[in-house]
Amino acid sequence: MSIKGRHAWNCQTCAKAVILEVIESWWVNPEGEWDDFEPYEWLVGKCPGCAGPYVLTRESDPDWRERYYQDEPVAEMPYVQSFPETHRALSRAVPLTVRESYDEAISCFRSGLNTAAVIMARRTVELVCKEQGLSEGTLAQKLRKMREQDLIDERLFDWSSVAKDLGNNGAHDFNPVAREDADDALLFTEALASYLYTFAERYETHRRREVASD
Ligand SMILES: [Zn+2]
Repeated sequence: MSIKGRHAWNCQTCAKAVILEVIESWWVNPEGEWDDFEPYEWLVGKCPGCAGPYVLTRESDPDWRERYYQDEPVAEMPYVQSFPETHRALSRAVPLTVRESYDEAISCFRSGLNTAAVIMARRTVELVCKEQGLSEGTLAQKLRKMREQDLIDERLFDWSSVAKDLGNNGAHDFNPVAREDADDALLFTEALASYLYTFAERYETHRRREVASD
């Protein structure tokens, strides 16, 4: 296997920045009108630390045509990780409406649509609140109520400020959302759903078993 190049990336297994060994990279030029189908690139690499595979993808510079004709350098767009998956799928214990909304948030994130990902993450959190019987007031008030009813713990409540702030920004501000902030909003959403539907349920089962064996 020959190495075609190197690319700096964050390896989630090694939990640090590494220089991926690029095995292959290629551009795909979809057929059709140029305006509708922009070329995109695939890159397959290997982490030198853990030997794990990585598949990255990126779009072409949206202004590449103008730059090309004006003899300007084309911008290098950032890669987005397609594999390994950056976020886990939610458990089947989570209601379908919540899972579908979360999956859409993940799809947005994987496509590099950070603002859309945050808006969908916020929608997912709203759906979780609704499923928990909380539909009155703002999202912040609903999350506070969840804390008061002891449905979530203090750490999760602290973290929730990220999701509601970012959600507001995504929907009402016109500043772009940073990738790390979108990632954080998604991780919170996953943690919230897992806590309510997986952790809480398993803990209850454990408690019931303990009571029964006393
Ligand atoms: Zn690694």
